[in-house]
Amino acid sequence: MFSDIIASKRQPSTSAQYCSRAGLPFGSASLLIKVMSSQPLVIGKFSLGMGDRFAHEAEAQLAACLAAKQHGVEIVPVWNKSNREHNIIGSEPTSTRTAADAAVKALGWTAPYFLDADHIGLKTVDRFVGVSDFFTIDVADFIAQPADPDAVQAFVDRHPELVGTITLAGIDRPFTTSRADVERTAAKFLLAVQEAGKVYRYISSVKGVGRFVPEISMDETDSPQNPPELLVILAAIADEGVPIQTIAPKFTGRFNKGVDYVGDLAQFEREFNDDLCVIAHAVKQYGLPANLKLSVHSGSDKFSIYPAIRRALAKHGAGVHVKTAGTTWLEEVIGLAEAGGAGLALAKEIYAEALSHMDELCQPYATVIDIDRSKLPAAAVVNGWTSEQFVGALRHDQQNPLYNANIRQLIHVGFKVAAKMGPRYLEQLKACRVSCARNVTGNLFDRHIKPLFL
Ligand SMILES: [Zn+2]
Repeated sequence: MFSDIIASKRQPSTSAQYCSRAGLPFGSASLLIKVMSSQPLVIGKFSLGMGDRFAHEAEAQLAACLAAKQHGVEIVPVWNKSNREHNIIGSEPTSTRTAADAAVKALGWTAPYFLDADHIGLKTVDRFVGVSDFFTIDVADFIAQPADPDAVQAFVDRHPELVGTITLAGIDRPFTTSRADVERTAAKFLLAVQEAGKVYRYISSVKGVGRFVPEISMDETDSPQNPPELLVILAAIADEGVPIQTIAPKFTGRFNKGVDYVGDLAQFEREFNDDLCVIAHAVKQYGLPANLKLSVHSGSDKFSIYPAIRRALAKHGAGVHVKTAGTTWLEEVIGLAEAGGAGLALAKEIYAEALSHMDELCQPYATVIDIDRSKLPAAAVVNGWTSEQFVGALRHDQQNPLYNANIRQLIHVGFKVAAKMGPRYLEQLKACRVSCARNVTGNLFDRHIKPLFL
């Protein structure tokens, strides 16, 4: 872990408030080595979450970040795997650590990298505490659970600046809020923020303050959080003393797994810009860490909003964390199919199995997929496909008439099928290494990193 700390980029302070609260020395560059071990871990401006379900693609993923670096842009790789994914696959977070460290070593990556305990809570965090240095504290389940009315009143009393006309730099129309609005928002989110505080303090008690990057996520819930709500949430997070470096709200529109964004592009762009202004304001007003940035969950494959994100980042000089995960597993299956022979046969078997266990596979992901079952071909039809047909259906190229977003979503949630195949799946991954790696790297670099950052 020390290597992470050494590699960790030193940035000018999060905020004086948090540094003094954490008792962390902020030395000059000349003190670099001496104070390195007590420097807080700080994530850089641009970071990419990457999921590696079967722990075979870390090198191919890192190669995409390396390519970005060669183009002059540093993208911090963050390997993420949720508790749910570990449970479905039957893996432990140590396997993610081993794979990431090995990839870093193999490619000679000297810049920072992180391991994200993705979507954890108090009940699930323990298995991650030793190996992770980034924690996505998921409190979506606590949203709208009633907070203590006295705590809500105390919050609103403490924050008169949230009531009335709030003018934020970069936003043309000021927010206008009444005390009742702020009470309503606080009542909806305060318990969730308090829960995040509990989880944060628990992780800190084990790892030490500043030894990890904390994120709070609220994306896996029914309704999006609008920019005025985000401001209230950030005020509450600051009150709770959680020095978050990334926050994952639920944005407007559909962020289905592995496919493009569905929603109002203009509204998304407006709200994304407003969120950036809210964050910049909250950093100053509430002393949150200076590098606080948005985290876009289910961020892979959202090609239609990447131009808007890119414009907004440039306009505000802001950073972002874009979380991708299952898109890499889809590239593995594409790599198998592209290799032909036994690889293609296994890819077809995965489709057939996924099709016959569709209800079970879709259930945990019901809110983040939209599969039109009438557009899923029968297994017998797919069994007759060539490599080109299978790859064309699965690869996320909307210009290709063979592309089928329904097949893509089904395979996305179908990784349990491969987990059940066990060594048989892993052997094919090895046999088809070249085509899998080519697709994994190409997908992250050409379809994600390039349009977002280069
Ligand atoms: Zn999420």
